[in-house]
Amino acid sequence: MTAKETVLLAREKGTVIPAFNIPHLPMVEPVAAAVADENSVAIIHVARVEWEKFSSKSLEAVAEEYRKYEKPGHTLLGLDHVPVVDEDLQRVDYLPIIRRAIDAGYQSVMIDGSRLDLAGNIGATAEVADLVHRTGIACEGELGAVMGHESGPRKPYEEIFTTKLGFTNIDEAKRFAKESRCDWLSVAVGSIHGAVAEATRNQKKPEARLDVEHIAALYKAAGLPLVLHGGSGIQPDYIRAGIKAGIAKINVGTEIRQAYEYNLGEGNIKAAQEAVYKRVRELISGVLLITNTRRLLFGDKK
Ligand SMILES: [Zn+2]
Repeated sequence: MTAKETVLLAREKGTVIPAFNIPHLPMVEPVAAAVADENSVAIIHVARVEWEKFSSKSLEAVAEEYRKYEKPGHTLLGLDHVPVVDEDLQRVDYLPIIRRAIDAGYQSVMIDGSRLDLAGNIGATAEVADLVHRTGIACEGELGAVMGHESGPRKPYEEIFTTKLGFTNIDEAKRFAKESRCDWLSVAVGSIHGAVAEATRNQKKPEARLDVEHIAALYKAAGLPLVLHGGSGIQPDYIRAGIKAGIAKINVGTEIRQAYEYNLGEGNIKAAQEAVYKRVRELISGVLLITNTRRLLFGDKK
């Protein structure tokens, strides 16, 4: 089953496919094992910022690690944020990165044109969608601004939420879904990214809420599975309400990265991997409530 079909099926069944981010290569093994041991289905994800600013080296290195530890029927390999304009406001030559992901066997890609105007974002996303669809790969686009990756000072969370700062516009979402030809739409509805800048990446994320009515309106307008970025640190009740309203994929990065880094000590990779394994199992069983999704989605057929 393709990544596109899997996420559509999750939406149909009222559940969610988590995507776990890999900023450090040794995280692939415990994430894949935890997903399989929960009889769940998840994407192993890497974003450009994670090989540029952390230690996942390259998208090829993650794909190679994935091949060693993948759990067929449980795990998929996905490319997260390839920005057109990155968090430091530099233009990125994104097409070569997308082509490398196709060659490396990625099953989904994300093109993030959210720092462009609407027409520019639609143009870049459609270009990538058309390219990857030829080989059956899913394309995710982003509309609106999920805050948090920027290097400058952060706005207080309450201010972001109450003023709906950067939230995805509903009319724009309708047009974007139709014209960009993407399969999944990443939306800004209250979640925020964990910090990636050196100075702030170890801080605890503020606890975020979700604007569930806004999610429902976006889903109705776009008619596509919605993606929630910044899945760490959202109150669980909001996550579950968000899934009901249209979220079918949720990205989790910061909290498993911090589980790894805090337990690494003087290079104790085994302890760090063990912490990631435990945290992923807790997230699946206790927060996302998606233990046994494999049975729900596929009836455990191979
Ligand atoms: Zn994101």
